[in-house]
Amino acid sequence: MPVCHPRNESKRWGARAIGGRTLVDMTNPLEASQPESAWDPRTLLVAGGRPAHGVDAAVNHPVTFTSTFHSQGVAAPGEKVYARFSNPTWDPFEEVLGQLEEAQLPALVFSSGMAAIVAALALVPAGGVLVMPRHSYNGSLSLSRELADAGRLEIRLVDIADTGEVIAALDGAAALWVESPTNPMLEVADLPALLAEAKKRGILSIVDNTFATPLLQRPLSLGADVVVHSVTKYLSGHSDVILGAVVTSDEKLHATVHGYRTLHGAIASPMDVFLALRGVRTLSVRLERSHTNSQILAQRLSEHRNVSGVRYPGLPDDPGHERAERQLGGYNFGSVIAFQAGERAADADKVISRLKLITGATSLGGVETLAERRARHASEPESIPENLIRLSVGIEAVEDLWNDLSDALNRI
Ligand SMILES: *Cc1c(COP(=O)(O)O)cnc(C)c1O
Repeated sequence: MPVCHPRNESKRWGARAIGGRTLVDMTNPLEASQPESAWDPRTLLVAGGRPAHGVDAAVNHPVTFTSTFHSQGVAAPGEKVYARFSNPTWDPFEEVLGQLEEAQLPALVFSSGMAAIVAALALVPAGGVLVMPRHSYNGSLSLSRELADAGRLEIRLVDIADTGEVIAALDGAAALWVESPTNPMLEVADLPALLAEAKKRGILSIVDNTFATPLLQRPLSLGADVVVHSVTKYLSGHSDVILGAVVTSDEKLHATVHGYRTLHGAIASPMDVFLALRGVRTLSVRLERSHTNSQILAQRLSEHRNVSGVRYPGLPDDPGHERAERQLGGYNFGSVIAFQAGERAADADKVISRLKLITGATSLGGVETLAERRARHASEPESIPENLIRLSVGIEAVEDLWNDLSDALNRI
């Protein structure tokens, strides 16, 4: 059974059995010939974390609604005990996400992406210097600033696409935070170079992999110590849950994060985790369609008279294009586009208010297309242009999306 005991015993894949089916031991080369180990990630999305095959066996694990578990005497290692420590509904999701990220251990699910980020930042040694992108997700930036104000750590903000600048900032640092592509500027970091440098210097590296998803980018395999996710976005994919996760292959870090989750209590609702796993089943088809749509929309936006500064790594002349092509698997550049509408904030607001199909809302990664003027948030970095719209492209028919968008843009 998975890690679930308050004393934080960590176990590797080989020891885990879900629904009676023993999973592949990713650490044991002798088991490498088992069919699961050969599964393409797109198959793993669909077939991972299922109950064992058998007559009358359910195809999905049930949702377990309980706050406590039957137990007697001294708790044995691995016993569930209490639902703040563990819930069987978390297990299949944590197993699938861990395997998708090519981790040696299951993921740890949290009640939100921010709860996962809080737990990951708690790994930074007290008083240590944290190097992070100046265009990180604004929640990560605000939280780090709060921690810095409290004297918990020091922040060094960098242009994450400028490898030389980041490496110079690593001097004397305790941790490196990477987001790539960044939210909302879509800057692409040289992940292999940055993560190798952090490893060489013994600096803790944490990657927010929300935008790329593990289908396109697996930072642990490139040397990252920890990956965090806002599961709310692409992994869940339907704008109906708030959820996060931390993933690592390091037993000690895993035990620390697990202990943090248990004590700080930002645990996920079993129903939300069930919905997230249901969303994960269709991740590959959603990403394919939303990427195809994005490629077309980004191209047309870049040719529109009322649009400037389109950022989308799939555009051949985007500054991050070549890097993204190498790092994101070469065929899918994600589904977030940033562009500037007209001249002023009011122009962008006008565009969003005129959209009929596309929803004006924050968030991203769902099946429905959302648009937001990011600078409306006071917490957004000042270098984000005030008329910048972040478009999270969904899976609708692309001509309907373009008609809606171009109608609104034509009337600036
Ligand atoms: C949304 C988001 C988060 C925060 O996640 P929540 O699930 O909203 O708490 C963190 N990082 C990135 C890149 C995000 O887009």
